[in-house]
Amino acid sequence: MTHPIARKLRSDLAMTLTQLRLLDVQHGDFPSLSSENPTDLFDSAQAVEQRELGHLAARRLVDRARRLRAALARVERGEYGLCEECGGEIAHLRLAALPDAETCLGCQQTREGSRIV
Ligand SMILES: [Zn+2]
Repeated sequence: MTHPIARKLRSDLAMTLTQLRLLDVQHGDFPSLSSENPTDLFDSAQAVEQRELGHLAARRLVDRARRLRAALARVERGEYGLCEECGGEIAHLRLAALPDAETCLGCQQTREGSRIV
């Protein structure tokens, strides 16, 4: 009875959460910025930059996990593959590329358009 996509969504979600956990672990061992040694400072600056990138990556992963969970909920409600905006079917190719897509391509473009304005 399980929708075949549910398995894919669950494994994607598990992978995303694993990546998040790995990022978290990496954050634990950045050198401190208080060193007097210029070489250390350079290393520290790089570490800070990496940490910033880490934050960005973490935000993206959290967002992805949220969308995957929402997609799983839609599978459970029998609404998977339906556009959240217009209720129309999302193209199979789009779902294959983006299993957690919430909208059809047309509505996605409308959303992105209205975000810019
Ligand atoms: Zn739509």
